[in-house]
Amino acid sequence: MQTNFTPAQLADPHVAESEKILRKCVHCGFCTATCPTYVTLGNELDSPRGRIYLIKDMLENGRPADAEVVTHIDRCLSCLACVTTCPSGVDYMHLVDHARAHIEKTYKRPFMDRLVRAILAAVLPYPDRFRLALKLSWVGRPFAGLLQRAPALKPFAAMLALTPRRLPPASVFVAPANHPPIGEKRGRVAILSGCAQPVLDPAINEATIRLLTRLGVEVVVPEGESCCGSLVHHMGREEQALGSARANVDVWTREIEKGGLDAIIITASGCGTTIKDYGHMLRLDPAYAEKAARVSSLAKDITEYLTSLELPAQMPKGIIVAYHSACSMQHGQRITTAPKQLLKAAGFNVRDPAEGHLCCGSAGTYNIMQSDISDALKARKVRNIEAMKPDVIATGNIGCMMQIATGTAVPIVHTVQLLDWAHGGDVPEKLKDLPLV
Ligand code: SF4
Ligand code: SF4
Repeated sequence: MQTNFTPAQLADPHVAESEKILRKCVHCGFCTATCPTYVTLGNELDSPRGRIYLIKDMLENGRPADAEVVTHIDRCLSCLACVTTCPSGVDYMHLVDHARAHIEKTYKRPFMDRLVRAILAAVLPYPDRFRLALKLSWVGRPFAGLLQRAPALKPFAAMLALTPRRLPPASVFVAPANHPPIGEKRGRVAILSGCAQPVLDPAINEATIRLLTRLGVEVVVPEGESCCGSLVHHMGREEQALGSARANVDVWTREIEKGGLDAIIITASGCGTTIKDYGHMLRLDPAYAEKAARVSSLAKDITEYLTSLELPAQMPKGIIVAYHSACSMQHGQRITTAPKQLLKAAGFNVRDPAEGHLCCGSAGTYNIMQSDISDALKARKVRNIEAMKPDVIATGNIGCMMQIATGTAVPIVHTVQLLDWAHGGDVPEKLKDLPLV
C-alpha cells in the first residue's frame, strides 16, 4: 500500500512503525474471510482491510479520530485472526494498538461510554475491587432486563449477565510464596496470579501449582505482581498499561536476579499475548527496554512449558473434550498443537469444533462494550462446540471460559485442570458430577 506521510510525521516512532505496517498491506482481502466482525456484519469497514484504510487515512492526515473511525475500531475484537491469515505479514496488532491510543488521546466519547470505560479500567485490573464489584452487582441483577432496553445502559446489562451467581472463596495460592518442588528439582518458574482469574476461578492456578510442583518444578508467586495491563491496553489507555508492564517487569527482574527463572508461567492466554509483547511495548523506554525484552522471552503459556517437561502418557479415559483455542492462544501466541497433544497424551478424546479460528466474542471487555456482536459470536461458537457432543470443554483463557459458560450447560474447564487431574491431581470440581468420572 502506498503511503504519504511527511518526514515530520515519520519522526514520531509510533507513526514510523505504523507506516511500515501499512506499506505491507497489498489490499488482497484474504483477511476478510476470517474476520469475525466482517463474517457477522458483512461491512467492509468492519473488516481488517477496511479498518486498515480508516487508520491510514486518520494517521496520514494527522486528524483526530472521528465517530466513524471509533465505531469500526471499537468493533474490532483484537482477535488477530487477520494476522494469522494475512499472506503479507501485516502486523495488524501493533497498528490497531496505535490507532486505539490515538483515539484515546484525540476523541471525546459520549458521557456514558466514558463512564463505563472509566469504571472498567478502575475495577477489573484490581482483584479486591473486582470481587467487591461482583458482589455488589448481585443487587443489580433483577434490573438487567430494564437496563438492556436503554442503548446507553446496555454495557451495564451485559456486566450483570456475565456476573457469576456465586464466587469461589479467595485462594491461599494467590498469596506470595515459594512452592517447593516434590522430589528432584527440575526447574524454577514464577507464575502470574492475574487480576480477574483468581477471583473468578482460583482453581486454575491451584491446579497449575500442584501439577508443576509434583513434576519437580519450584513455583514462585512473587510479591507485588499486578494485572498484566492487557485490559486497559485494549482500551487505548497506554500510560496505565505501560505502568502495569513496568511494575511486573520490576517484580520478575527481582526474581530472576534472586534465584533465576526458567520461565514466567501464564495460565490466561490473553495475558500471555500482552506479556510476550512487553519488549515491544517498552522498546522506547531506555530504563526498561532490555529488562522487558528479557521478561517477554521468559513468558510461557503453561502448555508450552509443560511440553518441555515430557509428561508420561496416560491410559484412555473415554472422555470427549472439545478443545476451544482462544484467539490469544492460536492467533496471538501461535500455540496451536501443544494443548491438544498434552490432552491426548493424558488420555482424553480431543475434538476440534468447526470454525475454530473464529472468536467466541469474549475479547477482554468486548462482551460488555459490544454485547450484540459478542452474543452472536457466542451463539455460533456454542453451536459448533455442542455439535461435537463433548463431555467437557477445555480452553486456556478465563475470558473464553466465562463467555462460553453463559451459553451452554456443558462444563468448561482450563486445559491445565484436566492435565493436573490426569497426572495425579484431584478431579476438577466442575466435573465431579460427570457420569464417566
Ligand atoms: S483483530 Fe479480529 S476482529 Fe479485528 S480486524 Fe482482525 S480479524 Fe477482524
Ligand atoms: S490479508 Fe493482509 S495484505 Fe491482504 S488485505 Fe488483509 S491485511 Fe492487507
